[in-house]
Amino acid sequence: MKVLLTGGLGYIGSHTAVELLDDGYEVEIVDNLSNSKEETKGKIEQITGKKVVFYKEDLCNIEKLDEIFKKGKYDAIIHFAGLKAVGESVEQPLRYYETNLLSTINLLKCMRKYDVKKLIFSSSACVYSMDNELPFKETGKLSPLNPYGRTKLFIEEIIKDECFARGDLSAIILRYFNPIGAHKSGLIGEDPNGIPNNLMPYITRVALGKLDHLNIFGHDYHTKDGTCIRDYIHVVDLARGHKLALDKIKDLKGCEVYNLGTGTGYSVLDVVNTFNSICGDKVRYEFAPRREGDSECNYADASKAKNGLNFKTKYSLKDMCESAYNYEKNNTKK
Ligand code: NAD
Ligand code: UDP
Repeated sequence: MKVLLTGGLGYIGSHTAVELLDDGYEVEIVDNLSNSKEETKGKIEQITGKKVVFYKEDLCNIEKLDEIFKKGKYDAIIHFAGLKAVGESVEQPLRYYETNLLSTINLLKCMRKYDVKKLIFSSSACVYSMDNELPFKETGKLSPLNPYGRTKLFIEEIIKDECFARGDLSAIILRYFNPIGAHKSGLIGEDPNGIPNNLMPYITRVALGKLDHLNIFGHDYHTKDGTCIRDYIHVVDLARGHKLALDKIKDLKGCEVYNLGTGTGYSVLDVVNTFNSICGDKVRYEFAPRREGDSECNYADASKAKNGLNFKTKYSLKDMCESAYNYEKNNTKK
């Protein structure tokens, strides 16, 4: 089976490429490198011992995308490419709507033209309304809080409409919770440009002395220790979820949505304390005011993916912290 990964040199895409190559899939990648580096291709090849075809192109350029599809003869597409910074999306909504929606529409046009019938899409838990009862179920109310989340919701709807219109297109929408951690090789992982917005890359940089201390946003939430709760999932478990989705989509008609999370919530302090137990208390932190737009607590109902995809996570919070630390140390040496 030949699969095209859009945004496949990014954090989740690169881990998924490794899992698919290890499992015998043929993998091609298109990425404009707006948030990744070309050297990741070599690292994927180093880990797996397999070759990857890479196109440095932007999905917003339909002529270039068309050329890729003309050659490709893909059995399936996994669509990771997109902009993903929540704060930036509030400041630059038009850029987010344009990039995320146009790139998806171009992709769907090419899939239609070249008769590609299987699509897996990276959605997010941020499409859920925070009013839903916990844990979040796929059938919950949808009401994203920011433009980034709305691009995900709109794309989900566009994909459903295209499945209906075509009749022969199947899609799986995966709503990721909080992916963290890295591949055990330490060669690929999360490497944001500038000061990280997300918790784990911030923690690893404090541990390595690249940042002074972590600000924990809010410690007066109605949770066991006052800090927010999230469903952290090891990126390698998440990547395996895509392989299971590819198995499922072979016989799927229409569109299905699955949460990918562990089903367990951990607080910010749980993550920091677990990390500190591994690195020898190098992560200094201070309590800071709440971050605007943060929800107090969210975690997945993981039962649909368990029953429908046979998805079960393997890795613990400790594994996630160890692998993230290992990656940051490895990444710092060079
Ligand atoms: P990432 O930024 O590491 O990877 C996205 C990749 O897409 C990057 O390599 C980037 O260069 C590429 N890209 C962006 N716009 C492109 C375009 N127009 N044309 C071609 N390539 C383009 O992000 P990630 O964390 O790997 O996330 C992958 C997907 O999963 C994204 O769609 C993201 O919104 C979604 N997601 C991520 C998280 C998370 O916490 N990381 C959570 C939920 C959903
Ligand atoms: N967080 C924090 N300090 C940081 C970054 C994040 O306390 O420097 C908290 C944030 O408030 C949230 C959790 O860590 O409760 C996860 O945040 P992240 O941005 O990683 O993911 P989100 O759940 O917002 O998508």
